[in-house]
Amino acid sequence: MALDRHFQEYFAALDRSGGEDRCFLCRRSAVEVKAFFGFDEDGTARDAEHHGLEDVVLGKLDIMSYRGLRPVCAVCQLNHDALALCGGESIAERLREEMGERREKLWPGDETRPPLEEEPEAEQDGRAPGR
Ligand SMILES: [Zn+2]
Repeated sequence: MALDRHFQEYFAALDRSGGEDRCFLCRRSAVEVKAFFGFDEDGTARDAEHHGLEDVVLGKLDIMSYRGLRPVCAVCQLNHDALALCGGESIAERLREEMGERREKLWPGDETRPPLEEEPEAEQDGRAPGR
């Protein structure tokens, strides 16, 4: 893809996100995503010689996608892929619902309130087939 097309995608994504150049889901910046994967801000591996990565350089476009509704980082993409592979998407959706609808029950504050009880069928969700 031509470089100017990358810039068009990038600036269009920034317009959609109100100018925020961060992952919409986890709020990491590109620099923070690089650090997560063990790379410095300039994209070079921190322990390049030790890991044999002298020729590997991560670019901003390698760790952030600007093609969707909002910028999304490679960490969140990998987490999403892992959830899909282990069948955890339904649990993730229910957890998202709990976080949105029953936030006060998830977090400390009122110790007199009993913890959320897991519904019986929830134990079956999210397990790999055959387990
Ligand atoms: Zn993210």
